[in-house]
Amino acid sequence: MERKEIPERYRWKVSDVFESDEAWEAAFAALEKKADFSRFRGTLKDADSILAYFEADAAFGTAAMRVYLYAYMKHDEDVRDTKYGSYLAKISSLIMATGAETAFVTPELTALPEETLSALIADPHLKDYDYILSRVRASKKYTLSEREETLLAQAGDALEVSGDVFEMLDNAELDLPEIEYEGEKVRLTHGLYGMIMSGRDREKRKEAYELYYAAYRKILNTLATAYYGNVKRDIFYKNARGYKSCLDMALFEEDVDESVYKRLVRCVDEATPLMHRYMRLRKKELGLDEMRMYDLHPSMVEAADLRLEYDEAFELVKKGLAPLGEEYLSVFSAAKDAGWIDVYESDGKRNGAYAIGVFGCHPFVMLNYQKTTSEIFTIAHEMGHAMHSHYSLTSCPFPKAEYKIFVAEVASTVNEVLLLKYLLHTTDDKNLKKYLLNYFMDMIRTTLFRQTQFAEFEERAHEMAEGGEPLNKDNLSALYLELNKKYYGDAVVHDDNIAFEWARVPHFYRSFYVYKYATGITSAICIANRILKEGEPAVKNYLAFLKSGSSTDPVSLLKLAGADLTTDAPFRAAMAEFEGALDEFSALG
Ligand SMILES: [Zn+2]
Repeated sequence: MERKEIPERYRWKVSDVFESDEAWEAAFAALEKKADFSRFRGTLKDADSILAYFEADAAFGTAAMRVYLYAYMKHDEDVRDTKYGSYLAKISSLIMATGAETAFVTPELTALPEETLSALIADPHLKDYDYILSRVRASKKYTLSEREETLLAQAGDALEVSGDVFEMLDNAELDLPEIEYEGEKVRLTHGLYGMIMSGRDREKRKEAYELYYAAYRKILNTLATAYYGNVKRDIFYKNARGYKSCLDMALFEEDVDESVYKRLVRCVDEATPLMHRYMRLRKKELGLDEMRMYDLHPSMVEAADLRLEYDEAFELVKKGLAPLGEEYLSVFSAAKDAGWIDVYESDGKRNGAYAIGVFGCHPFVMLNYQKTTSEIFTIAHEMGHAMHSHYSLTSCPFPKAEYKIFVAEVASTVNEVLLLKYLLHTTDDKNLKKYLLNYFMDMIRTTLFRQTQFAEFEERAHEMAEGGEPLNKDNLSALYLELNKKYYGDAVVHDDNIAFEWARVPHFYRSFYVYKYATGITSAICIANRILKEGEPAVKNYLAFLKSGSSTDPVSLLKLAGADLTTDAPFRAAMAEFEGALDEFSALG
């Protein structure tokens, strides 16, 4: 379909960002003039000059994000149109250049004496910047002399090479063979592998699994060396700056206490018997004598598609979110007619779905809606992001308005869980019920258990290297296999290939990143539960969280919503939900 054939009410209103390309170009030209921060260099010593800098930065940032947003959305409407591709390149490079030009700010602030920083944090004129400044103060003890910092910065590029090597291998030089798929010989790509793995053709899954791992097995020594290089980089920085461990360093940057990470791993470890039970159930449902790692992805039941038109799907999501109360629902409903959402596929439009929000403008949601059950969940999910953006962007000042990765998947998952519970309670269709329970259990398997398995692998691999044990394909594979057995139990055959899964995980090159998916879904399940059980007081707490942006550390923000990750309670709540789903599925027979 051509974009212009789609009725306006199903298209997002980019004109809310800029009326026209001419208006965008004028804004871009004005922004280029604003991009000079050199006058602040060497001045960041007292409250007045620091506030002046922060205000100039906020004005630039607000304007730049708006200019960026327009280019980004116009580009996604039709990726074939080179005009917006060049708009996007122009604004991206201006933002990058400004970032490089303001690189003096953090070192200048960090160099201030502790007492000066404390006075600045307490200064009411700098209230919007208190959290940023408190992080500067906390980082002082890990900051080195000017000369050492310059050296570290200069070494930075060279130390990132391991990740680049992995990317080059994984995306360009990995020798993935051809496979027959839907009657044609095609090259096995990562995308096709994923599609085959969740498909129902078991022989095809086995073939793809074996071909895929065979390609990685040819270059295992290289991949182990690349990963070890990545860990060595972490150890280098840890030692240079004086952190206790690589994990401690990564979590400091996030402002999360190490005990949260350890608690996650411990609580999920304790719950692995539930995963083993799920594996036994899956084996039975799929009617297998022997279950393999390539049998984990397809749904245990045939897709139960509700086949709703978009307007009906939106209404259904609204019903599912009713427990969030009037305040939430009124904004949610109005968004549909206020040009937030781009609903349908059209020629040249980017694939997939996402939500985006920038300061000073309402959020936007991109969909490519199809009449399937999973697309209804996509509406709930992306609107969860958009509503979180809406509340944070309208409740916080610019420097605190954007929420951080640690909390980013909470609001989207809360919405999915609420919708799921609503559908389970309102349908009599046994197949649909089983389909939904399978969806929920797989969400918990892939986001809570699997990411924690990864987190434990990263932690142990770093500990080995920190203790002086060189990493290689043998000890990495032995560690991975041990964890895989612990997580999945003996209902699955742990074949030779699965020991090498570590070698193909791109996220491992962003050390200690994936645990945030696991804490995110844990918090979301816990919050959704509270909302359903306690009603209004829980909703009030949740809205306070949605409005909190990045105003303080993420664990405190989640505590506002009732998910206290410094206790076992949220982890227990999430696992109780998993057990409940297992019981319900089994009882349906
Ligand atoms: Zn998301």
